[in-house]
Amino acid sequence: MDLSFSPAEESFRAELRGWLAEHLPDAWRGGEPPEFASLADEVAFLRDWQRRLAEAGWVGIHWPREYGGRGASVVEHYIFQEEIAAARAPEIINRIGVNLVGPTLIAHGTDAQRRRFLPKILAAEELWCQLFSEPGAGSDLTALRTRAEPTSDGWVVNGQKVWTSYAQFARWGILLARTDPEAPKAKGISYLICDMQAPGVTVRPLRQMTGSEEFNEVFLEDVVVPREHLVGREHEGWAIANTTLAHERGTSPRQLVIHRMLLQDLLRLAREGGADPVLRQRIAQHFLEVEITRLNNWRTLTRLQKRLPLGAESSFIKLFWSEMSQRMHETVMALLGPRGLCWQPGPYAPAGGRLARSYLYYRAASLFAGTSEIQRNILAERVLGLPRSR
Ligand SMILES: Cc1cc2nc3c(=O)[nH]c(=O)nc-3n(C[C@H](O)[C@H](O)[C@H](O)COP(=O)(O)OP(=O)(O)OC[C@H]3O[C@@H](n4cnc5c(N)ncnc54)[C@H](O)[C@@H]3O)c2cc1C
Repeated sequence: MDLSFSPAEESFRAELRGWLAEHLPDAWRGGEPPEFASLADEVAFLRDWQRRLAEAGWVGIHWPREYGGRGASVVEHYIFQEEIAAARAPEIINRIGVNLVGPTLIAHGTDAQRRRFLPKILAAEELWCQLFSEPGAGSDLTALRTRAEPTSDGWVVNGQKVWTSYAQFARWGILLARTDPEAPKAKGISYLICDMQAPGVTVRPLRQMTGSEEFNEVFLEDVVVPREHLVGREHEGWAIANTTLAHERGTSPRQLVIHRMLLQDLLRLAREGGADPVLRQRIAQHFLEVEITRLNNWRTLTRLQKRLPLGAESSFIKLFWSEMSQRMHETVMALLGPRGLCWQPGPYAPAGGRLARSYLYYRAASLFAGTSEIQRNILAERVLGLPRSR
């Protein structure tokens, strides 16, 4: 294992740091990001931020050059995510478009789809959402029931999706729907592009415990999807969905940096308020786990660099950092004590309520991109060779 970055990679890092030092919005420089009056205001700001990043060539850096990317290596992509997080810069808003849709269309889309959709993703001109999960199909997506009935030139879609992040702002959605109801579960699913402004699409925001309404229920009633919005072949969408899902896994440099910073918050709280021996032990354990996360990331990065398959390792990384995060946030709340109840900005809220909101937000970490139970099933079966769960 080589534990250092090459001179070329370090100069890439320096160039990005230089750009961020010059262009990071002022409100982000103090370490406490500002609060927006509404989610819509925040999204408008983030679209503008993504546009500026894209103009400077910092969005979709892992996309090939011919599609507007930088053709960056996996290591440069890792460094990019690490530096953006370390600068506490806002995340790009069109994450689904850039990280999931782009690579999927590059691998499986038609030339016409690539020409139509890719250019508007990078600068957040058109936002995308992911219409995969349904009320009865989350962990087991192959149980999905949304139905796409064929017509002479496409499909008519009926069904319901849920937990669709940013659907209320999205122009397009990647949609999994059943096109052959007779076929067994994973067969007979097609991968479609859904126009979120089409008649019959209703988006209802769901309020989360953080107070935000990022994700939604999406109702699809006789929604027309033209034939040219099919990605790959009809009934063979499950394999393509797996390309999309694979892009959700792998290393987690952003989470590593965020939790390194959280460790600093923990140390500050412990120094200010005093921590009993049990809490001190817990903080020491958190330090060890953040270091383990760093080494896991590097091990995976090495495999990616050598083009080795990731397999069950990506499940381990996701499981480890998400549960570490929840343990660390429990310690944050123990140190905050009753003050942790003040999660909204105000005079009594420590760190403007940021730490308490972070505690609430990271409850979701053991759910999104595959729940902890599902990651454990994968590890049990594929690493430990235990019998398949039923
Ligand atoms: C913040 C956030 C954003 C999201 N954004 C999107 C999005 O944009 N688009 C989208 O399509 N989806 C999105 N999701 C949905 C997410 O992918 C699902 O929540 C996740 O896959 C789990 O599915 P579920 O919620 O239906 O839970 P279920 O699958 O119903 O699971 C319920 C419980 O049962 C357990 N369980 C299920 N099956 C097994 C098994 N075989 N063995 C053991 N335990 C099991 C689960 O671990 C869980 O604890 C988002 C979720 C979150 C939290």
